[in-house]
Amino acid sequence: MSNAQYDPNNVFARILRGEIPAERVCDSKHSFAFYDISPAAPVHILVVPRGAYTDFHDFTSRASNDEILDFWKLVDKISAEHSLIHHGFRIISNIGPDSGQEVPHFHIHMLGGKALGPLLS
Ligand code: C5P
Repeated sequence: MSNAQYDPNNVFARILRGEIPAERVCDSKHSFAFYDISPAAPVHILVVPRGAYTDFHDFTSRASNDEILDFWKLVDKISAEHSLIHHGFRIISNIGPDSGQEVPHFHIHMLGGKALGPLLS
């Protein structure tokens, strides 16, 4: 996906603008984290950049180094503060149609809080 296809009214853009609610976990200058509305594990957190990026490739190719560093530092902070790092956790990012990406605003899923089992089962 290129940014030309970015839908400014996608659900995460609306969450970032405060137009629809989300349960905030924490945030930073360029990034925001909230609980997934339909958790797939005891801990299921979504992390998004505040900027308008459709997916991982769009984010990595167009975001500034400051935004990219801010994003991954926030992921690491969450993993420590939610004790995910102690027992292990999983990061997933769906990218494009074959992945089943539902929301066209780059995000990662942080999943943990139990033994997750094989990725593809
Ligand atoms: O990676 P993908 O785009 O498929 O995941 C989107 C995620 O956003 C889903 O896990 C869904 O439960 C979550 N979601 C949410 N709050 C909304 C809409 C979707 O947490 N208002």
